[in-house]
Amino acid sequence: MLKKRSRRRFIKCLGASGLATAAVSGTSAYAQEESSGHASRDKPAHERYLNPRKVLLYENTRKEVREWIASGDLKAAIIPTGSTEQHNEHLEMCMDTEAAKFISQQVALKLYPKVIVTTPVPFGISPHWMNRQGTITVRKEIFKGLVYDICCSMKAHGINTMLIVNGHGGNSRALYEMVPEIRSELGITIDGFSYWSSFPRERRNEFTESGIIPGHADEFETSFALAAFPERIRRTTYDGFEPYKWGSNKEDMDRVGYVDAEWDTPEWDKKSFEDSHLATAEKGERVIAHAVDWVSEKMFAMLGDSD
Ligand SMILES: [Zn+2]
Repeated sequence: MLKKRSRRRFIKCLGASGLATAAVSGTSAYAQEESSGHASRDKPAHERYLNPRKVLLYENTRKEVREWIASGDLKAAIIPTGSTEQHNEHLEMCMDTEAAKFISQQVALKLYPKVIVTTPVPFGISPHWMNRQGTITVRKEIFKGLVYDICCSMKAHGINTMLIVNGHGGNSRALYEMVPEIRSELGITIDGFSYWSSFPRERRNEFTESGIIPGHADEFETSFALAAFPERIRRTTYDGFEPYKWGSNKEDMDRVGYVDAEWDTPEWDKKSFEDSHLATAEKGERVIAHAVDWVSEKMFAMLGDSD
């Protein structure tokens, strides 16, 4: 059980801007009954906002953005990319988007006031999950085009250094392709990677019992969610779940590039769910701290390059 004081310290050191309103206790998503928010619910809403520095672009007014840019302090933008896709029975579909946003926000707070975080890209390339209802997938060219247009927009506002922080595995190939394309077309300083690139293969056992990073809705992501946004986890069971019994329109599935992922068997899916029971908030906190440090260093080095 995470002590309240150390939990507070975690929130404080994250300097979370509005995200830390949900504290967590307990050792697993299912062992814990209750109690998100105890550390902060005893305060009025305006005091719960632990860090008044708003680094998310869409939380600023035009005056605030204008003055921030005019100050000369703002040097770079982070673009979080995620997905809207099934995350097994217990996690909300926004997991990847929220994780990328959370890491990006913490990095921007750490490097404040040099970095702003754009509105996250909430759709990713997820044709392999289209057999689970709720998933929205976009084609690669749409995803790449959206990120490209965000870069163009930020460049038009005078920001010439950009970092894409990705939270969804299905976007990785597009990311890899588009970084050099955008760099040469727009002439900006740009890099991009998934936040879990911060965990080298040989160290993954230090952060998860299973050694699986990032996995899908299992120990790693569920730990992340327990630490950062426990309200996005349901206490539920796997019973009665029949994944392949809904009738879908094949033509529509083909239009968005549906692929039948052979590894996505009912057994694999159930194992992911079972592995999520290994999740703890403590693991999530270590994961987040490590990823934030690693991404911050990358961003900081890019700021040096752009000066
Ligand atoms: Zn995910």
